[in-house]
Amino acid sequence: MKDNNCIFCKIAAGEIPSKTVYEDEMFRVILDLGAASEGHALILPKEHYANLMELDEKTAAAVLPLAGKISKAMMKGLNCDGLNLVQNNGEEAGQTVMHFHLHMIPRYKGGAEVIEWKPGNPKAEEMEATAEKIKAAL
Ligand code: AMP
Ligand code: ZN
Repeated sequence: MKDNNCIFCKIAAGEIPSKTVYEDEMFRVILDLGAASEGHALILPKEHYANLMELDEKTAAAVLPLAGKISKAMMKGLNCDGLNLVQNNGEEAGQTVMHFHLHMIPRYKGGAEVIEWKPGNPKAEEMEATAEKIKAAL
């Protein structure tokens, strides 16, 4: 299904031009207009899924092999030193376009910091309670 109001649906369908690096029947991979580093790309499914929770299993199963393929091409073609995969779900998590996408961000020695968080120090009993909450919801 497509969403007529979704910019990534239109880009994935080729209705809005993009710098495409890969395309097949399920996905289009484009360069991010606000690239965090040289080669920052987005894997877009051609069908509309708002986020990871809505993604269908077939698409989900195909995303990581494709990310692996693009990663190898980035390492070879861009000569990057590593890369981060980032996938935001929900506004609070930084998602600004509500069409599932996987960021692929090449990293270069001495390059800008891209992903940072301050490590916390949860107590063992807090971790136990947290784990129980997730397990109970599975
Ligand atoms: P997120 O914050 O995870 O939703 O990421 C959305 C990303 O889409 C941002 O990194 C934007 O720079 C990028 N973006 C938004 N519009 C376009 C566009 N038309 N073409 C390419 N990248 C885009
Ligand atoms: Zn969409």
